[in-house]
Amino acid sequence: MLTGMQIAVLGGDARQLEIIRKLTELDAKLSLVGFEQLDHAFTGATKEKLTEVNFSEVDAIILPVPGTSLDGDVDTIFSNEKIKITEEILMQAPSHCVVYSGITNRYLDDIIQSSNKKLVQLFERDDVAIYNSIPTVEGTIMMAIQHTDFTIHGSNVTVLGLGRVGMSVARTFHHLGARVKVGARKSEHLARISEMGLTPFHLDDLQNEVNDCDICINTIPVLIVTANVIAKMPSHTLVIDLASKPGGTDFRYAEKRGVKALLAPGLPGIVAPKTAGQILANVLSQLLEGDK
Ligand code: NAP
Repeated sequence: MLTGMQIAVLGGDARQLEIIRKLTELDAKLSLVGFEQLDHAFTGATKEKLTEVNFSEVDAIILPVPGTSLDGDVDTIFSNEKIKITEEILMQAPSHCVVYSGITNRYLDDIIQSSNKKLVQLFERDDVAIYNSIPTVEGTIMMAIQHTDFTIHGSNVTVLGLGRVGMSVARTFHHLGARVKVGARKSEHLARISEMGLTPFHLDDLQNEVNDCDICINTIPVLIVTANVIAKMPSHTLVIDLASKPGGTDFRYAEKRGVKALLAPGLPGIVAPKTAGQILANVLSQLLEGDK
């Protein structure tokens, strides 16, 4: 239980509602900032303006998955209030107060450091990334269906990267009946791809591996689907780039060449906000219990 804990939830999307639900069930006291347009009320949670929160009594601050913008602004879909997180706000919080977000950026890192606080990035954790890969794959399937006129079954699918997302994508498309090739650079990844019954290739050979590709799914967050690679793809190839912005595809060249290439960020929050929120809520509640 989180009895006696005071937590500020600042902004966010539908995923945050699952977090609020779980933490109030565990008896934490919540200050909700950026939720005034939310019809639902949660027992133990009070909707407040940023200026009304007494940060000196806050044990934890929960930011939305993207954290802040590079100017410190926090997105919220439930309010028109502009929420800006500053060093001054964090300085008001007690030294034990932990800040939670999905990812970070230079601005957030800087104010965390200058206010001497601890930041936990939930998406850096393997468990969160692996659970989150499940709705990511479902969103990828949705995009593949929406943007092709052929079945996934029987099509040639090239997956780039065998990380937490790449492995789930490769396995699921294989089970849907696609012929799946996976590109990686580590020998242990190439071995694992073979063990999974898929066709491995080294990323150095990428240009030579895409000439029969129907769907290319990238999970590598560096420019990997270059103009040279796109030039070797059939014109009907669909590129779905899952890597974090700006993705790993030369989108300009893809457009010039007439190859459809889509950057698809944030799929879990789009296709399954409830599940995506529950994944975060479960991990957060365990971490907060540990902080007590
Ligand atoms: P991960 O486990 O770190 O996997 C990243 C993969 O990229 C690994 O196979 C890694 O191989 C490879 N890689 C990284 N840098 C490389 C380079 N310079 N050259 C070749 N390969 C390289 O990450 P993840 O959790 O799978 O996430 C993958 C990406 O998807 C991230 O950008 C993440 O933010 C994004 N994501 C997007 C969504 C969405 O909805 N679109 C959802 C979840 C995650 P090595 O081991 O050889 O480095």
